[in-house]
Amino acid sequence: MLTFDEEIRPTALPLGMPRVGTFNDTSSPVTPPAASTGRIRVEDKRIINCKADVNQLVPFKYKWAWEKYLAACANHWMPQEVNMTADIALWKSDKLSDDERRLIKRNLGFFTTADSLAANNIVLGSYRHITNPECRQFLLRQAFEEAIHTHAYQYIVESLGLDEGEIFNMYHEVPSIRNKDEFLLPYIDVLTNPEFKTGTPETDQALLRSLIVFACIMEGLFFYVGFVQILALGRQNKMTGAAEQYQYILRDESMHLNFGVDLINQIKMENPHLWTAAFREEIRGLMQKGVELEYAYAEDTMPRGILGLNSTMFKEYLRFIANRRCQQIGVDILYPGATNPFPWMAEMIDLKKEKNFFETRVTEYQTGGSLSWD
Ligand code: FE
Repeated sequence: MLTFDEEIRPTALPLGMPRVGTFNDTSSPVTPPAASTGRIRVEDKRIINCKADVNQLVPFKYKWAWEKYLAACANHWMPQEVNMTADIALWKSDKLSDDERRLIKRNLGFFTTADSLAANNIVLGSYRHITNPECRQFLLRQAFEEAIHTHAYQYIVESLGLDEGEIFNMYHEVPSIRNKDEFLLPYIDVLTNPEFKTGTPETDQALLRSLIVFACIMEGLFFYVGFVQILALGRQNKMTGAAEQYQYILRDESMHLNFGVDLINQIKMENPHLWTAAFREEIRGLMQKGVELEYAYAEDTMPRGILGLNSTMFKEYLRFIANRRCQQIGVDILYPGATNPFPWMAEMIDLKKEKNFFETRVTEYQTGGSLSWD
């Protein structure tokens, strides 16, 4: 059990250590199967419980995973590339209201630890149970991006001279943040438990449930109120450096969500017996709980409504987003008729422009662009 007072410990057997004589142990395969199985064939590959060699990336079966890996690498960025001068001046001035300061601090209070949870969940949890090298390649990249995001939040906290102890402990001390993390922890704990192995309908469903909670509720729902808040500040020319960081993070997280959705749908396709009516109903209940927790967080961070935003708009936005997540994985929607009160968010995700939206500097968005040889 992962608690707030305890770091996630590595499993008894460090990851990457060959497990002699455990070729049939699919929970954390690192060793190639017996040589007699011959060269790997596309048809041998499966997302979970795969018996084929996980060290052979090719032949590709899941090109969507490889393409997302390439796209994520092409979007590489680092937090210290973003100029924070205007944010520092604004924070030191009297031009921010108390409500705006509360929002910024509680926003960082959630995110500073959330992406560490995300990284630990991948590296110590889900990675071990995804038995496909294309998907693992993306997860390796994703894990580094979670580190970059944690770096970005730390960089904002440091730049503004905030009390690090206050911000990084909000997930212990602020109930609206703690409640979200307490909701997530059991679904992380199950995968990081060294005893956990897939291979039965129950454990395969447990993995699928955790992947859905992680991608669709954590990254796909819990992150979005926070993104809207800081990007709304940026649209009013406030905290433009932080907003620029969040815009890059939003782009990365959109990719994490899309990968997660593809992964979930592929597992469903390969294991249709897991996708029972009872399981789908359980997922709807989790989604509904996620909406309630996130709405409580929105109310707590914006008790009086600021930035042209109020909690009623967030209620509608959360319902809209939750419906979208349900549709993406093939679950009946929860809130018929919900609409998007923040249509500008779609523009924020689409960063194909060559120029920085907030005009703090002119730069190319892609630092690791692909070369064309023809
Ligand atoms: Fe992520």
